[in-house]
Amino acid sequence: MEVTRAFYRELILLESAIYIVATPIGNLSDITLRAIDVLKEVDLVAAEDTRHTRRLLEYHGIAAKTISLHEHNETQKSDSLIEQVLQGRSIALVSDAGTPLISDPGYILVQRAKQHGVSVVPIPGPSALIAALSASGVPSDKFIFEGFLPAKNKSKRELLESFENEKRTVMFYESPHRIVSTMEMMVECFPLRNMCVARELTKCYETIKYDTAENILSWMKADENQTRGEFVLVLEGSSDPVLSENEEQKKVLLARLLEELPPKKASAVVSDVLGGSKKEIYALALSMKEK
Ligand code: SAM
Repeated sequence: MEVTRAFYRELILLESAIYIVATPIGNLSDITLRAIDVLKEVDLVAAEDTRHTRRLLEYHGIAAKTISLHEHNETQKSDSLIEQVLQGRSIALVSDAGTPLISDPGYILVQRAKQHGVSVVPIPGPSALIAALSASGVPSDKFIFEGFLPAKNKSKRELLESFENEKRTVMFYESPHRIVSTMEMMVECFPLRNMCVARELTKCYETIKYDTAENILSWMKADENQTRGEFVLVLEGSSDPVLSENEEQKKVLLARLLEELPPKKASAVVSDVLGGSKKEIYALALSMKEK
């Protein structure tokens, strides 16, 4: 069978469903052919901000009917949307930018769809998170996404400190109002790590800066324009878990005792003196002995 675009078009909307459609994060051309087809064919587009989405629809010559679905009315509107799909209609969900549900509305709608056995079909495309990671220069094999950092400094610091020993890359969204204070905190919490600040991705003033937090902060302070726009922060993971003082002491004492005693006795003494599980210290002793 020949696979053509027409073939894929025909596959679209074979079933009534909720289509989760990713839209551009800046550059209006960053939208897939399939997303355009779906937006043209559905009965209704549920948009976070209908005026904002209208610009995208007009740019691509799409005459879709829109309805608003945002964080303040999602609970109230989801049931009626589900009802429409159960009656045979198809609905596309879009947010202002990127992939819906990624720090954007849509979770309640999808959850309710599952409860009612309504199909949810992803139409993949842009997300600031993945775009930033792909160009960051920070390890991309394993990463955690924390969404927006807390607005309050105390909670933000506590969250950042919880990543002291995190080996995976950690990613955040940040607003222009808080970018400088957040970078100041990054300098304090992670003085030795590299990171990437990805700003205004796919737009005119796109900037992707990879350096230490300290250097990035100085560079931002030297050019106020660098503190404007939308930001993704990509923080390198810790290369070595920092041992607590007690763990360091255990290792030192164990190493010395292993020169005089068999592993079992040495680990029992360490556990008595410094605490901790005998079994774990014994396993550590065996691994040290092997080296
Ligand atoms: N759903 C979107 C996605 O898939 O990326 C994210 C929506 S969230 C409400 C908006 C945040 O995403 C912004 O505050 C910023 O942190 C990040 N963001 C969105 N577009 C961006 C862009 N073009 N460049 C950098 N960050 C962006």
